[in-house]
Parts: sequence; structure tokens; C-alpha cells
Amino acid sequence: MISIKSPREIELLKKAGEITGQTLSYLKQFVKPGITTKELDKLAYDFILKQGATPSFLNYDGFPASLCTSINDEVVHGIPSNRKLKEGDIISLDVGACYKGYHGDSAITCPVGKISKEKAYLIEHTEKSLYEGLSAIKAGAKIGDIGYKVQSYAEAHHLGVVKELVGHGVGTDVHESPDVPNYGEKNTGITLKEGMVIAVEPMLNLGTADISILDDDWTIVTDDAMPSAHFEHTVLVTKEGYTILTKR
Ligand code: MG
Ligand code: MG
Repeated sequence: MISIKSPREIELLKKAGEITGQTLSYLKQFVKPGITTKELDKLAYDFILKQGATPSFLNYDGFPASLCTSINDEVVHGIPSNRKLKEGDIISLDVGACYKGYHGDSAITCPVGKISKEKAYLIEHTEKSLYEGLSAIKAGAKIGDIGYKVQSYAEAHHLGVVKELVGHGVGTDVHESPDVPNYGEKNTGITLKEGMVIAVEPMLNLGTADISILDDDWTIVTDDAMPSAHFEHTVLVTKEGYTILTKR
């Protein structure tokens, strides 16, 4: 079932989203060569708690951290470890905060020091594809309109669109109905309604779209070992369009 949020729920989702967005803004300054992903995770954990929230991902389906840290060819769900970031890496940070039972979910991909032109291109156009997708959102539009926009933009820029992982509804569960694919046809799928809250999250690859899961049962990587980027916002569907809840 796809829930329509009440005004009270929307207030709580706004607060959860705000904390989520602030967490990413806060973490960005620490993304430098030499820091470990475990250190980034600890910074995220402490920051979220200080805001009076709890990390949505910690122990979610057994995930062992507050932050997903996915480096270079890792697409999503990278587990923080003692791996140190290196000059020229890119890292996707995906985080959720839960405030009074309601969640926010957001992701960014950051350069580590100076990166290649190709990686900068990937980051720039993955972020733009997110805003392309969001531009389709308003009450009365279809879920497929979002995916169509993301896919058209990505393909026009020769980037691979990951299809096995999709966006989702957000509420008292960090992953709710409906699925929000990053591909699709215009005017297909469910109709968006005022008061729905969804996360849109394109994952684009510099190479092909094909992905696999590592033996840790979490980390998703590209099959061709080319880099991947990820951007995500949680948004409220409104009559006229949408409101980003996870602003940073
Ligand atoms: Mg996320
Ligand atoms: Mg998500």
C-alpha cells in the first residue's frame, strides 16, 4: 500500500529529511585522502545522534553501519572499513536518519582530492539526472515519468543506468512502496498523489549497466570495474511539483 502522509507526518518527515541532508553536508568536509570509511561512519553516527535522531541503516536487515560508503566501481551498499580514501577516488555516501519514527534517505558522490575528467563527468551528470527525474514529479504524474526522464538523460550522456536497484517510498519504514525505477516509459505506473513521500536515486555507471554483489552480501559493484555514482533525495509530492526534504 502506498501511504499518503498526514500534515503531522509530513512535519516529522521534514525534520528527518533535514537531519539527513545536514549529515551529508557535514560529512563532505572530511572526505579527503587518508580518512578511512569507518571514520566517516563514526562521524555520521555521532552527528545523527547529536540531532536527536537515530541512523536508519544501522542494523537494517543486518547492515553493520550508519553510512554506506561505496568507492569507485562500488555502486551502493559499501560497508565502512579500515580502507583509506586515496587521491583520485570517488566515494558515494548514502545515509538515513530516523526522527520520532520517520525517516529521511539521501546520497551524494564526492571526489577525493583531484579526480579524472571522466569521474568528474560521471558525478556531474549523475547529479543532473536526479534533478531531471525530480522535474517530472507532481500530483497526477506517473511513476514512469520519473524513470523516463532519468534514463533519457543518462543515455544521452552515454552512462549506464543500474536497473536492479530502485528508489522507493519513505515514511515509518525507510523503504516503502512504491518502487521508483530509474528507467521506464512515460505515462506508465502508479499515479503520484499529493502527500506521497518518495526517494529518487539514480545510480549511473561510466561503463555498462551490469552489476554484481560481492561475497560480503552487501556491496554492489560494476561488472566492468568502471566507476559508478549515486545521488538521492527524499521528496514530498505536492500539487504543483515537489519539495526536497533532504536539502543540503
Ligand atoms: Mg539512500
Ligand atoms: Mg534510498
